[in-house]
Amino acid sequence: MTHGVFRKTVGLMACAAIVAAMAVPLAGQAQAQEEASAPKNVIVMIVDGGGFNQFLVADYYEHGETGRQPYQQGFTSLAMSTYSANAKAPYDPEEAWTSFKYFNKDATDSAAAATAMATGTKTLNGVLGLDPDKNPLPNMHDAAKAAGKSMGVVTSVQLCHATPAGFIARNEKRGNYLEIAREMILESQADVVIGAGHPDFDANGDPVEPQSNEKKEAERFALVGGPEVWEGLKAGEVGGDANGDGVPDPWTLVETRAQFVEAAQNPPRRLLGVFQNNGTLQQDRVSASGKPEADAPFETPLLAQMPTLAELTQAALAVLGRNEQGFFLMIEGGAVDWACHGNQLGRTIEEMIDFNGAAAAVVAWVEANGGWDENLVVVTADHETGYLTGPDSDPEWNDIVNNGKGEMPGAEYHSGGHTNNLVPFLVRGAGTDALVARATKTDPRRGAYLDNTDLADVVRELLSADAPVLAAAE
Ligand SMILES: [Zn+2]
Repeated sequence: MTHGVFRKTVGLMACAAIVAAMAVPLAGQAQAQEEASAPKNVIVMIVDGGGFNQFLVADYYEHGETGRQPYQQGFTSLAMSTYSANAKAPYDPEEAWTSFKYFNKDATDSAAAATAMATGTKTLNGVLGLDPDKNPLPNMHDAAKAAGKSMGVVTSVQLCHATPAGFIARNEKRGNYLEIAREMILESQADVVIGAGHPDFDANGDPVEPQSNEKKEAERFALVGGPEVWEGLKAGEVGGDANGDGVPDPWTLVETRAQFVEAAQNPPRRLLGVFQNNGTLQQDRVSASGKPEADAPFETPLLAQMPTLAELTQAALAVLGRNEQGFFLMIEGGAVDWACHGNQLGRTIEEMIDFNGAAAAVVAWVEANGGWDENLVVVTADHETGYLTGPDSDPEWNDIVNNGKGEMPGAEYHSGGHTNNLVPFLVRGAGTDALVARATKTDPRRGAYLDNTDLADVVRELLSADAPVLAAAE
């Protein structure tokens, strides 16, 4: 296919451009400092739909207070703007807090947000890895590979959904799942891709019968690249050359919870994880009451056979951590967004708690693998979803009410869609200073903030700064 050749050209161009850009300012002291602060590994954790209040409701439910999460200790806390190329103007901190309706305008979607965080360029909603004129953009996959590093994405929703796809693939429409899945599985050099989309299980984790209707039967496999790709994955025969040695590196397919746990102990060379659910890890399971928006957290028992996001993360880290030159990993708590679209406060909290478990796994891994001098960890969101506030808000913004540990906090939604709120941005480790330096704007309530494009710009510079000299000169 033409995409594969095309990608290689883009990757090389990106590499050359970054090397050229680095060559000028890197001299003497500046060079020493820059090199000293470049991390070997970069881990970006994204809560899809996670605004400040999504984090806060989970803090209150889980701990009865804020400040206890693994990313709230030792991390630098900033905010980030998320608007896309559809916005009429950049985020305006003064205007934002004068009218309650401001945040409902100019919201990004996950495709444009992922593109901004992976490429440094704002694009139109719905577009992946291409600029507003549909020109291809070098992304985080390309930057990691150009630096000789491994690269992976993990999500609690479908593996070809907008956020993971935006870090690897390019497509004019985020909804072209079959094409996107095929690009990620057949054409990319990614080392880890983990998500939902299993053809043999529904959103409740129950087995699905083969469909007699041919079109419907084909659709069942769209999220994993079609029936032939799926058969090839099961046979261990699918996957191109991931490390550039000219030899194919077929994926090891991992499906069950036990297999993910095993992969964390004995990591395969390349891991395609498709856990046994078509939709999400937990958020889309059938509610016992029939009303997920009315359920308290865990009122409907979790699907015990599903892995946790922490378990998926541990498997990914084990695979990627084998590369002595390091890696880039994106981990998405993808279903906070889904819960907030449905104004499901209980499931929002459940999904945030699962994300927090993954963050704890990341911090534990970092501390056992080189510490904060070798690793950079970012915890952020692509946008806020649901316009979550404290009770009785509008026209003022009331605070979330803390009702104590294990109790539903006082909160209410004001939207079923995305908003233009700033989102949390927490960072720790090598390269933190370079990101903090980008937070040059100030919001009256959220403080210093950077833009989602700054994340890509800085991380790509850091990845290339850590590349071995020989690799960079190629
Ligand atoms: Zn959404």
